[in-house]
Amino acid sequence: MTVLIAGAGIAGLTLGLSLHQVGIPFHIYEAVEDIRPLGVGINLQSLATRELFELGLEDALDKVGLRTREVGYFTAQGQEIWREPRGTYAGNTWPQYSIHRGGLQMALLEALMERAGPEVLTMGAAVTGWREVDGGVEVTLTNRKTDMVTGTVTGDVLIAADGINSLLRAGFYPDEGPAVWGGTMMWRGVTRGPKFLTGRSMAMVGNKACKFVCYPIGDTEDGGSLINWIADLELPADYDWLSQDWNRAGNRADFAHRFEGWKFDWIDIPKIIADADGIWEFPMVDRNPLPQWSFGPVTLLGDAAHAMYPIGSNGASQGIIDARVLARELRDHGVGQGALQSYDDIRREAVNAVVLANRGDGPDRILDIVADRAPNGFDDIETVMPLAERQAFADRYKAVTGMTIEELNKRPAIIAV
Ligand SMILES: Cc1cc2nc3c(=O)[nH]c(=O)nc-3n(C[C@H](O)[C@H](O)[C@H](O)COP(=O)(O)OP(=O)(O)OC[C@H]3O[C@@H](n4cnc5c(N)ncnc54)[C@H](O)[C@@H]3O)c2cc1C
Repeated sequence: MTVLIAGAGIAGLTLGLSLHQVGIPFHIYEAVEDIRPLGVGINLQSLATRELFELGLEDALDKVGLRTREVGYFTAQGQEIWREPRGTYAGNTWPQYSIHRGGLQMALLEALMERAGPEVLTMGAAVTGWREVDGGVEVTLTNRKTDMVTGTVTGDVLIAADGINSLLRAGFYPDEGPAVWGGTMMWRGVTRGPKFLTGRSMAMVGNKACKFVCYPIGDTEDGGSLINWIADLELPADYDWLSQDWNRAGNRADFAHRFEGWKFDWIDIPKIIADADGIWEFPMVDRNPLPQWSFGPVTLLGDAAHAMYPIGSNGASQGIIDARVLARELRDHGVGQGALQSYDDIRREAVNAVVLANRGDGPDRILDIVADRAPNGFDDIETVMPLAERQAFADRYKAVTGMTIEELNKRPAIIAV
């Protein structure tokens, strides 16, 4: 009764921890030889931190992340459109975290190693094929450095948690091709700088064509913040976006000029860009929603199932919920195809709706509408977008993503402990 997992990313590791929690044997195969803390910042919504808290990871999260206090939307002139409290500051039982993606991955890995031991993880083993055998599954493993098949293993089910360019997903959808680019490039970086707003705020500034997103992911010794930031620019369709490498270095000269003059009394964006320790470039890509995730003894999880635009901070959060629901279904239905189908039934349509909402700019759409109505700013936001309309924007996205506070607070745990 073994669950084989391809990929030790955020979703795969959370699944491992959850299966350990419910007492189901599993083994994770990870393509890279060693896990390094790669990436920059991400946000974890309260619905996901609830799951990590229920895995006993509250202290670990506090070590590597900051509790987000609020989210704010601002025009390209720096004027406030909307600000709302987040996490416990908004009445949620669980906080929202701003966290380094690599720090989170290392924290999950460390917890898994402590609890389940190193024998549950094989590194340098990419899952490159599978076939159904005797009601179970036989999986082919390849060392990517040598490109040599290193062996096969068998289990009852195989979970593809192998990320946005999932090889297993490509096997089920051979005509799908590369991820879908919507025309926006993202330059990402981390800068040591002064605290802004509450010192725990996430800010979205500008609009879809030219946007700056930033939030602190740590405090610095001098009382400032380690500011994670993303500069988004819409670019012509012939832009070379295909290099989807999270570690691809970006060039300040390609985007910084578009943010010149974005120095406001609450933040100095040109300085944040100028002072960055490093800059990375990544295309804003996603995947089309799928009609099916589970195929016999195999299913898709996390980005492999539903890679989405990083708008509204839901990519990692939804992958964590996938992992929890799947672990519960495997416990309740037994390790087999019935559990995978049930997980597909519960999660697929719900997450597809988030993918589509993010394609429509998710909660950030408020920026686009205000920029259309008042391209040069305003004297009074009420005359541009009344409070009720702004509130409706925030509420609508929360309803689609399962972030509604009252619902989350009263919903029973996915895995009761
Ligand atoms: C190196 C890296 C850096 C990232 N940086 C950011 C960032 O800065 N901001 C952001 O918003 N998102 C980032 N992401 C994406 C983010 O982690 C995911 O959107 C989200 O956390 C969902 O996680 P996931 O586990 O589904 O996918 P991922 O976190 O992408 O994990 C997938 C894992 O599967 C492994 N893998 C791939 N193919 C195979 C295979 N065939 N067999 C076995 N293992 C395989 C990968 O090496 C990886 O460890 C990054 C992802 C990676 C891999």
